[in-house]
Amino acid sequence: MDNLWRDEDAEHVVEAYAQKGVNRDLALRTYTTRLLGGEPRLVLHGGGNTSVKTTMQDLLGDTYEVLCVKGSGWDMGTIEPAGLPAVKIAPLLKSRKFEKLSDEDMVTLLRANLIEISAPNPSVEALLHAFLPHKFVDHTHSTAILAIADQAESRAMSEDLFGKKMGFVPYIMPGFALAKAAAEVFEQDPSVEGLILDKHGIFTFGETAKQAYDRMIHYVTLAEDHVRRNGRHPFTPAALPKTLATPGEIAPMLRGAVAFDRGEGRYDRMVSVFRTSPAILDFVNAAEVEDMAARGVSTPDLSIRIKTGPMVLPAPAADDLASYRAVIDARVAAFVNDYTRYFQENDARDDLKRIMLDPMPRLTLVPGLGMFGHGRTLKDAGIAADVGEMWIEAARDAESVGRFQPVSRPDLFDLEYWSLEQAKLAGARPKPFTGQVALVTGGAGAIGAAVAEAFAAEGAHVVVLDLDGERAAAVAKTVGNQSIGLACDVTDPMSVRASFEKAVEAYGGVDIVVSNAGAAWESPIATMDDALLRKSFELNFFAHQSVAQNAVRIMKEQKTGGVLLFNASKQAVNPGAKFGAYGLPKAATLFLSRQYALEHGADHIRVNAVNADRIRSGLLNDAMIENRAAARGLSVKDYMGGNLLGLEVTADDVARAFLHQALAERTTADVTTVDGGNIAAAMR
Ligand code: ZN
Repeated sequence: MDNLWRDEDAEHVVEAYAQKGVNRDLALRTYTTRLLGGEPRLVLHGGGNTSVKTTMQDLLGDTYEVLCVKGSGWDMGTIEPAGLPAVKIAPLLKSRKFEKLSDEDMVTLLRANLIEISAPNPSVEALLHAFLPHKFVDHTHSTAILAIADQAESRAMSEDLFGKKMGFVPYIMPGFALAKAAAEVFEQDPSVEGLILDKHGIFTFGETAKQAYDRMIHYVTLAEDHVRRNGRHPFTPAALPKTLATPGEIAPMLRGAVAFDRGEGRYDRMVSVFRTSPAILDFVNAAEVEDMAARGVSTPDLSIRIKTGPMVLPAPAADDLASYRAVIDARVAAFVNDYTRYFQENDARDDLKRIMLDPMPRLTLVPGLGMFGHGRTLKDAGIAADVGEMWIEAARDAESVGRFQPVSRPDLFDLEYWSLEQAKLAGARPKPFTGQVALVTGGAGAIGAAVAEAFAAEGAHVVVLDLDGERAAAVAKTVGNQSIGLACDVTDPMSVRASFEKAVEAYGGVDIVVSNAGAAWESPIATMDDALLRKSFELNFFAHQSVAQNAVRIMKEQKTGGVLLFNASKQAVNPGAKFGAYGLPKAATLFLSRQYALEHGADHIRVNAVNADRIRSGLLNDAMIENRAAARGLSVKDYMGGNLLGLEVTADDVARAFLHQALAERTTADVTTVDGGNIAAAMR
């Protein structure tokens, strides 16, 4: 592993922070923490921490010896000094005399001794850092070190490889007991330069930031070299079908199967991220893949990301897709049974009566293709996939030099159901559409953009489609929530299909579709050019049909229901003079919504339409509004408010109606008017 320390970079960081009142120790601590945190083979999504012992003044100007240790919620790769809260060290050292200290009391002790009361919680490994005497202490869950620590004979292998330079600490869950045990191992031989924590990771320490960091890179490199020199390829390739299905073909089925069924047509859905690479394929295509997956996670805190380990599917044959969903369902059921048994057996060891987390897999290995990470958000799904890649590397390397034997299930359970880990997860409250994917056509227009914003605000990842791909991308960026914008010509069935395929590629499927794109042309009906009417039907009717067909196809593969919403317009029920070209296809689209509602209620796909009128948009721009108001002898305000309420109706009002229809779980075949009240257009 490359040593990234550069004297000039370190001094630059020290100078930059000196201007902000940060001392040299903490500046250098920040510098090497970032070096460690930027390397996924050392630190991945929270797996690691660092500290420095220095002095600091409190508000009164009294100087204290403090431990600045990584705080929770900070990413080591981008950490700032504020992410290394200072804790008075003397009270922490006093606690070592205790026989036991509960996790809650440990947090109390740490928080009570913070210099800054608003600082984040110090790491749960803070006491371990405190009990070691060295100025700088670095801790990572290095993938290469795990290849040595996740062995049946890990102690012997560690001693062979590192000799007396590294202490060896048997597995204990992080917290007070581990802190004491690690300090005792160190004190047996204070000449060690670090500690290997069995089934967990590595600590190195030193008197300078550079020394602790150099040692980390040195011992990680020793482990890497050992695997490279002595490892033999541990797998035999399994037979695969002649022609494999594609990831896109199985993604909606898999996504539907891993949604947590809460009953009565309600689901906690997840999005999926697909990953593949030569290293992933080498692993998932091995005959041993199920055996490896069953052995567990490479370091225990991965359990909060991928539970007890990955689920493994059989390779999907292209010519047997019809039966593949049943195969996935059976594998998911087996995973859920196994997880439930793991929970029940371990929960029964004491009388704490914990509540079981949802038992659905977070990582799925698919021979022939690669792997899928699943998560309630795209970010979480990506983390599951990142973690999966490092798990594969650690498991393969461990197996290549011995036998991969990671942390046991009871130990894993203690960590997964550890009160402090549970507290970390409790913070994230789901929104109504968390885990759902909403797709909106005409997404760069006033109504489409308002719809995208409304659904993203309620937790959905939004696929914004528009003829203008750049504007669609801009809307997606504005609404946030890891939404995407794509160019799509809704009148071209190939373009529509390709857009849905991209939605599946990005998120694994689709749950809510708002078919909104439309345009109006004015012409008297008796003299109308046929070409104009046909053009309007292409956009205002056939495009809706093509969008709906794709939506239903994917929703039926997911088998978790769905929502299909149409922008039908007031013209569908209340014709306006010269608006025949618009009203005729819109009337057909209103009928279309009812036809879909009728035929797909049994699939739990709800289908509704919104009749909006007189909304400022591309269809009704300011110049048109002024002309029409003038033609009626009205002011713009009176024209726009020409309804029962006497108030202008906005794109946001239309978006709220779509949102309402998506939220109303027992509403289908509904038409909602958003026109400020128009008796002639009222539904009867
Ligand atoms: Zn750790």
